[in-house]
Amino acid sequence: MTDPVMTSTRVISHWIDGEERASTSGRTAPVYNPATGAVSAQVALADRADIDRALESAARGYKVWSSYSIAKRQTVLFAFRELLNARRGELAEIITSEHGKVISDAMGEILRGQEVVELATGFPHLIKGAYSENASTGIDVYSLKQSLGVVGIISPFNFPAMVPMWFFPIAIAAGNAVILKPSEKDPSAALWIAQLWKEAGLPDGVFTVLQGDKLAVDGLLTSPVVQSISFVGSTPIAQYIYETASKNGKRVQALGGAKNHMLVLPDADLNLVADQAINAGYGAAGERCMAISVILAVEPVADELIEKIKERISNLRIGNGAGVDGVEPDMGPLISGVHRDKVSSYVDIAEADGAEIVVDGRGFRVDGHEDGFFFGPTLLDNVPTTSRAYIEEIFGPVLSIIRVQTFQEGVDLINSGEFGNGTAIFTNDGGAARRFQHEIQVGMIGINVPIPVPVAYHSFGGWKASLFGDAKAYGVHGFDFFTREKAITSRWLDPAKHGGINLGFPQND
Ligand code: NAD
Repeated sequence: MTDPVMTSTRVISHWIDGEERASTSGRTAPVYNPATGAVSAQVALADRADIDRALESAARGYKVWSSYSIAKRQTVLFAFRELLNARRGELAEIITSEHGKVISDAMGEILRGQEVVELATGFPHLIKGAYSENASTGIDVYSLKQSLGVVGIISPFNFPAMVPMWFFPIAIAAGNAVILKPSEKDPSAALWIAQLWKEAGLPDGVFTVLQGDKLAVDGLLTSPVVQSISFVGSTPIAQYIYETASKNGKRVQALGGAKNHMLVLPDADLNLVADQAINAGYGAAGERCMAISVILAVEPVADELIEKIKERISNLRIGNGAGVDGVEPDMGPLISGVHRDKVSSYVDIAEADGAEIVVDGRGFRVDGHEDGFFFGPTLLDNVPTTSRAYIEEIFGPVLSIIRVQTFQEGVDLINSGEFGNGTAIFTNDGGAARRFQHEIQVGMIGINVPIPVPVAYHSFGGWKASLFGDAKAYGVHGFDFFTREKAITSRWLDPAKHGGINLGFPQND
């Protein structure tokens, strides 16, 4: 077998100063097509010189962009929105070729990201200041919302378009310059977006893509040029980002991992629950931070629910996300062979700890795609709550059933976990749902909705180890995060009412 690293020499580069820029480092990492397992390109990994070029260009871009009027900035945003609307199919194909998710799901993430672009077009209203006339006699007090400067975004592999779009439309609308460090596993979507901004009329240097690994990330975290960091990824890295960026004086929001539970009460419609469990557990092969990974079945529903889920799994089509002969499967591969093996190891752990393997996705192969990174939908029953397979994030198509006796037992289990990203309750009892939303220690809750990703004008973010920092993504939090307030107390002197000398602390009268 040939070394897969040598099968492609195309190098995916940075985007600096309004154009693709080759890296000076010579360091690269392979980018795979997960459906075939073939290396489709190499991605550049930035060194110090690349990082410095990106920072200098962004600082220049910021000077230009922050002097644009609101009206001119809004024109660019609307142009970007129109171009994205017209050409998003190209972006979906790029996502699928490097991430592996099915095309319709890639389009779904673009549409959810586009919601934030659309919210950002209304930014003039959202960055307006406030004015209090005559706060004290003859004195007016007002506040301005100004941009921060150069801001950094570091994104994960699982949503190469949507996650950056949670941040950059608002950051740019508010007058900042953005440096995006995408995941090195699927780096091309960011370049396509950069090209689109150029076509929309964004000045050079306002949207920069810095490809790379920890070296590039650390370059942003420690640079005095960078004013804020928006990070999305796994919890250990989120914590590192939060601590390092804070220590370096930056504003920081760092969204981490998840372990999302679905609580099913005995009065729920089990056909609805089974359909939604399939969608939320196996969509995007479980590589979603809002995926459901645990079903807490309040007895006596577990046996019936398992039968319904099993039957639905048997009808799922798994294959190349790009489709074969125009037919799209339901689920594509995982991102890499390494990740597939990690997911598989969690099923081994669950089995060793005494869980029952109801449907086993280990060793799953797709005809004609034998080297693809596929893992079959997996269903586990009676997973012990002491098992690492229950406690840790798996990030694959593995659904664990845990049988509980009461509503309260389910709530207590959810609240005892490390993460607090998303959760859902399925019931027809409004009182139970209302109690759930009040008592649960989780940031985003679905009531008969399995993946409760808030719309763009509400903010996205979890609790506990799922979010470090005070600001969530997008919505009002986004505008607050990407602006800073300045309060001005002003007196235009009336010569007849000069206050004279007074060394006391200013009092209002
Ligand atoms: P990851 O933490 O491995 O990588 C995220 C980013 O951090 C990438 O750009 C990567 O290059 C960089 N990075 C990796 N290791 C680093 C290090 N040691 N130092 C500095 N930077 C480093 O995450 P991933 O595997 O790309 O994405 C999957 C994870 O993201 C899952 O845990 C998932 O739950 C989480 N996620 C969370 C949300 C959310 O909203 N909370 C959304 C999407 C994904």
